[in-house]
Amino acid sequence: MSIYTGPVFDMARQQFQIIADHIGMPEDERDRLLYPKRAITVSCPIHRDDGSTVVFQGYRVQHHLSLGPTKGGTRFSKSVAIGEVAARASGMSWKCALAGLPYGGAKGGVTVDPAALSLRELEALSRRYMQEMIPFVGPHTDVMAPDMGTNEQVMAWFMDTYSMYQGKTVTEIVTGKPVASGGTEGRREATGRGVVHLAMRAAETIGLTPRTAIVQGFGNVGSVSATELAARGIKVVGVSDHTACYADPNGLPIEALNRHVAANRVLAGFSAEALADPATLLTRPCDILIPAALERVIDATVAAKLQCRVLAEGANGPTTPDADLVLAERAKEIRVVPDILCNAGGVVVSYFEWVQDLQQFFWEENEVNNRLTRVLDRAYEQVTARARKDNVGQRTAAMAIGVEKVYAAKRTRGLFP
Ligand code: NAD
Repeated sequence: MSIYTGPVFDMARQQFQIIADHIGMPEDERDRLLYPKRAITVSCPIHRDDGSTVVFQGYRVQHHLSLGPTKGGTRFSKSVAIGEVAARASGMSWKCALAGLPYGGAKGGVTVDPAALSLRELEALSRRYMQEMIPFVGPHTDVMAPDMGTNEQVMAWFMDTYSMYQGKTVTEIVTGKPVASGGTEGRREATGRGVVHLAMRAAETIGLTPRTAIVQGFGNVGSVSATELAARGIKVVGVSDHTACYADPNGLPIEALNRHVAANRVLAGFSAEALADPATLLTRPCDILIPAALERVIDATVAAKLQCRVLAEGANGPTTPDADLVLAERAKEIRVVPDILCNAGGVVVSYFEWVQDLQQFFWEENEVNNRLTRVLDRAYEQVTARARKDNVGQRTAAMAIGVEKVYAAKRTRGLFP
């Protein structure tokens, strides 16, 4: 299994072993749950706008098929590598199981800087990646969704490419599509909406009325989270993306920031006065801290310096196992809402989108949001109860529930699929 290397997979392996020890999983069963069912690597050649040819490397990892098709996002980023994709595919498995969705986990991506592509080049790459994946995906095999560097438009290209090869429209092949192309109301906002809903539940659990928040990342998850916080009257006192970091103890103007990003794609250039040091953003004082960008941004050193009361993990894998040890010691000061619970809103509404596409019967946004809240509340309560019962942290409790469900399905089915 040596193809799965790198710090992100090492971290996933370490977290899985902690859970396997906690639930007493026999040693000989562990590899079956940890390692992916299959991993696909493809070359995606495209013509650049200047007429030259360039080849990008693409991946798709399907973690397990024991509960239904696999489900997971597609990332376009310079850092995409097979170990990282496999790690995030296994995380999706535990997340889907925790939320009670009939899916295994998957993830995919292309090693590319999407900002360096023109719109035409991005379309060519998106279509070629999906074309290469056609033999391996399907509405009942593996269903893709957006992740960092991809968006509704990329999902529309994926769906269209798959559909052209089938000779008919197959909207249920991807989720996170534009509503105009078979997407669901509420999907674009679902992850950030869920993050803030659960952050508020965590605050309520510890008897905190939150007044301030900081959000790292201002893409889909970060910007929607910031907007939801502001709508609840919470001052967003710090935000950042890969181009700029702003802070203001009186609260930043989120609507104006959204307008700026809609026009310029990035935060850079918004304000000279509010510029702040991105290296200290996460450790500034605030009630709710939402990392919504990269993996492994909270290590043991950062964890020791955090000044938040609720750490709501919008990103996947923002906290390292070493940081978790520090946070366990600080459990009375900081309440963690772990990623597989906190950002599950995205895959929950993706599931709703898939169900609606399969039935060709569409729901109103209110119904989507109400059902989302019900699923997240149920998962939150299960995690809280399990943490109390086992006397463990929220992450261990959340992962234990997810891993146990997958393990139970594998045990009762046998060695296949
Ligand atoms: P996105 O591409 O829309 O936005 C990513 C943001 O992170 C951008 O604003 C980018 O500038 C910022 N960023 C990149 N490097 C940064 C840095 N060094 N410092 C600060 N900001 C930086 O991606 P997204 O969909 O919002 O995903 C963000 C995170 O949430 C990822 O970890 C993703 O896996 C996770 N997630 C997303 C969804 C979803 O539905 N989109 C669901 C679950 C989890």
